[in-house]
Amino acid sequence: MPEKYDLIIVGGGISGASLLYAVSNFTDIENVALFEKEDEIAAVNSHHTNNSQTLHFGDIETNYTLEKAEEVKEGAELLAGYLENHDPDREMHSKRSKMVLAVGDEEVRELETRYEDEGFGDLFPKLRAIGRDEIEELEPKVVEGRDPDERLLALQTSDGYVVDYGETSESFVREAQARDGADVYTGTKVTKLVDRGTGFSVETAEGQFRSDAVVVAAGSHSLQIAKEMGYGENMSLLPVAGSFFLANDMLNGKVYTLQMKKLPFAAVHGDADVHDDSITRFGPTAKVVPALERGRLSTVGDFFDVFELNADSILSYANILSDRILLPYVLRNLVYDVPEVGKQAFLPNVQKVVPTAEIDDIERAKGYGGVRPQIVDTDAKALDMGEATIAGDNIIFNITPSPGASTCLKNAMNDAQRVVEFLGDDYEFDEEGFRSETIGHFPRLDA
Ligand SMILES: Cc1cc2nc3c(=O)[nH]c(=O)nc-3n(C[C@H](O)[C@H](O)[C@H](O)COP(=O)(O)OP(=O)(O)OC[C@H]3O[C@@H](n4cnc5c(N)ncnc54)[C@H](O)[C@@H]3O)c2cc1C
Repeated sequence: MPEKYDLIIVGGGISGASLLYAVSNFTDIENVALFEKEDEIAAVNSHHTNNSQTLHFGDIETNYTLEKAEEVKEGAELLAGYLENHDPDREMHSKRSKMVLAVGDEEVRELETRYEDEGFGDLFPKLRAIGRDEIEELEPKVVEGRDPDERLLALQTSDGYVVDYGETSESFVREAQARDGADVYTGTKVTKLVDRGTGFSVETAEGQFRSDAVVVAAGSHSLQIAKEMGYGENMSLLPVAGSFFLANDMLNGKVYTLQMKKLPFAAVHGDADVHDDSITRFGPTAKVVPALERGRLSTVGDFFDVFELNADSILSYANILSDRILLPYVLRNLVYDVPEVGKQAFLPNVQKVVPTAEIDDIERAKGYGGVRPQIVDTDAKALDMGEATIAGDNIIFNITPSPGASTCLKNAMNDAQRVVEFLGDDYEFDEEGFRSETIGHFPRLDA
């Protein structure tokens, strides 16, 4: 007989791992299994070399509306609280200054309006508007070499959590396995999911398993699996790879630039690495690629499964990529990965943050970077911002471009609630207990 679980989670990145933690520690679900195709937990986008390590609160991300920032903020506070509670020695995170920098009259006006009139100053009480002198105190290299008459303004906060999402995923798994009933299968790919009506059969390289409910948290592959099961018809993906450039000791914390309007990708920023503050990372770049995972040729075919080569997908791509802001941006980003030429082309992005940076100061970080599965709405023929969830009968699919790592515990909380509803009246999610272990430890300004 195949082994039977109440819940199976497909994918052991930060999304799957945080859900495993939520259901194992805060519900009465007794048997849950997580399957991860790689030998390690969080080997793909959640690995610390593959993303920007930012805990996005929505305070310095100038592409977020106030509504989006409110939504993301709670997710970030849940994770920040978890880190404060479980990582006192800062092995999986560090906490530094974080700011978004406006340069010149136009950008300064934009940032002032955002802070004073649009409600961001009220929503984020720790966010301060600071001028040239204070910017210089916190980040001397941001000011060095600039025209003294050029106006500078930054929105700065002490909530600059820099997170190793891979280590954090492992911590979630450890916490879950400290309870009975959480099985974790690494190096075990789920090859097929079949809805039997009375539960799911889950085929893997280790044999077949059964489960009453399933959550697919397989990054870009979630949509591929969803489509195989007849879900996600009006969706496709624009996979956007991100690379990083490294420099020595340029910044003390995180410095974002203002977001280019209409772009769903985070603005290029500079920040000190989570584990080594003498390394400054600049990026990410945004290169459109026909693959679901970075450097994995085998995922090119997976991309075409998601793309489906139908008229709606092709028209959506044509519409998105012909945009007069997106197209030049996409073309420029293609160059950044070309050896030598790429470095030269990327340098102005670094100089926006550190004006005195020179070509020899930066190196492309080999082997760094992941792929963001930007969601394409094939009905609207447009890009969707942020993550997507497809909820089916006793099954959920999560597709998680940025800020998917920041909001992992909020997504886990919502999914844990849905999963107990799937399983029936005998099951409950202890949201109060979950909040007390996580957001309950987030340091408020008055504390
Ligand atoms: C360049 C870049 C910068 C980013 N910066 C940030 C940032 O600063 N802050 C932020 O919050 N987010 C950021 N993100 C987004 C963030 O990395 C993702 O949202 C997050 O890692 C998604 O986690 P996940 O667990 O959903 O997916 P993943 O980490 O991709 O994990 C999915 C897992 O599923 C596994 N899997 C897939 N198919 C199967 C299968 N069939 N069977 C078993 N296992 C399977 C994979 O091996 C993988 O381990 C960034 C992303 C990129 C690429």
